[in-house]
Amino acid sequence: MKILVSRCLLGENCRYKGDHCRNEKVLALAKEHELIGVCPETDGGLCTPRAPAERIGDKVIAADGKDVTAQYRKGAEIALKTAQEQGVELCIFKAKSPSCGCGKIYDGTFSGKLIEGNGVTSELFLKNGYRILTEEML
Ligand code: SF4
Repeated sequence: MKILVSRCLLGENCRYKGDHCRNEKVLALAKEHELIGVCPETDGGLCTPRAPAERIGDKVIAADGKDVTAQYRKGAEIALKTAQEQGVELCIFKAKSPSCGCGKIYDGTFSGKLIEGNGVTSELFLKNGYRILTEEML
């Protein structure tokens, strides 16, 4: 099976702080499945490191006040195109991210409070009928 995976879970230093969140359970899936990495934030044009950002309604705003919604949307579209071209059957995305998070995200106040919701990429993938797990669900 082809699985689309957040690249920070594969060990790439693409998180906003310039680090990764390599996950051994995710990597172990490569024994039986083809893992295809995406990072919607950097693929959409944001640099690393970068200011953290959170969803506020339909927008994504960085902690420095910059509106990064366009980059997030562009990255989501690139990830969706990759999934469609590759015939991806499952996504494993990074929990709580404003791009990749699924089910729970931060509330937009940069206070660490979680609310129900999806990152921009997960939202687009759910609309297109994809199954999404986060690394916390494995
Ligand atoms: S956009 Fe997704 S893949 Fe990229 S750093 Fe954020 S959580 Fe990881």
